[in-house]
Amino acid sequence: MMNWLISLWKKKDQDSSFLEGENLWDQMTKGCPECGCSPIKLHEGPSGGACINVFCADCGQGYNISPIVQWAQKIRKDTRYIR
Ligand SMILES: [Zn+2]
Repeated sequence: MMNWLISLWKKKDQDSSFLEGENLWDQMTKGCPECGCSPIKLHEGPSGGACINVFCADCGQGYNISPIVQWAQKIRKDTRYIR
C-alpha cells in the first residue's frame, strides 16, 4: 500500500543528493569546501570510469568528481595527499 510513497521518497533522496553534488561542484570551483583554501589545489587519486577521486592538498579531503556532468561528492579524508 505504501510502496508508491516509499518509491517517491527514494526518488526524492536521489534527486536531492544529486543537487547537493552540483552545489558541491560549484563550491569547488571557488575553493575547497572543507578548508576554504582558494584556489583549490588537488591531487589526483584513483579514478574509475567518468569519475575521478581528487584530494585537497591542504586538508586531505577527498572528492569524487565527475567533470563531464560537473558533479562532486565528498569521500574520505586521506592525509597522505597533504603537502
Ligand atoms: Zn581543503
